[in-house]
Amino acid sequence: MEKTIPKGPRVHQKLNSEDLFYLLKEQDQVSPKKSVNRKCYRCDCQGRYCDGFSVSLNPTLVEKIDGLEKQLKKTVQIISGVRCEKRNVEVDGSKHSFHLLGRAADIRCETISIDELAAAAEIVGLLVIRDYRDDVVHCQWND
Ligand SMILES: [Zn+2]
Ligand SMILES: [Zn+2]
Repeated sequence: MEKTIPKGPRVHQKLNSEDLFYLLKEQDQVSPKKSVNRKCYRCDCQGRYCDGFSVSLNPTLVEKIDGLEKQLKKTVQIISGVRCEKRNVEVDGSKHSFHLLGRAADIRCETISIDELAAAAEIVGLLVIRDYRDDVVHCQWND
């Protein structure tokens, strides 16, 4: 019997894999998720390039961040949620940013550190990047 070694991308090391980006983009187009409308996640281009939701917001991402607030018993600020293409370029977002897919949010919580917030987000199952420069935790949902 041959041993099968599990393969596949290491999502934690490369959150914004180009292949995964296009795979999920297509998947979301073919079988759209039930969209959620949460104002705080809207694109912050202020209506210049889109109506705020250039793409539908992933319901699981929202669910997880709601869960995070419950767990922390604190309010989490959504600094950046959905982004349209033009806004993503403006803010110098990565080319395959999951904000473009409605699958990422940059969050902050005034009373706790980036590291504490990131650790809590990981506990609820989100993939995270600690962004010390902008003082936010980038949270992403890939499934
Ligand atoms: Zn926009
Ligand atoms: Zn981000």
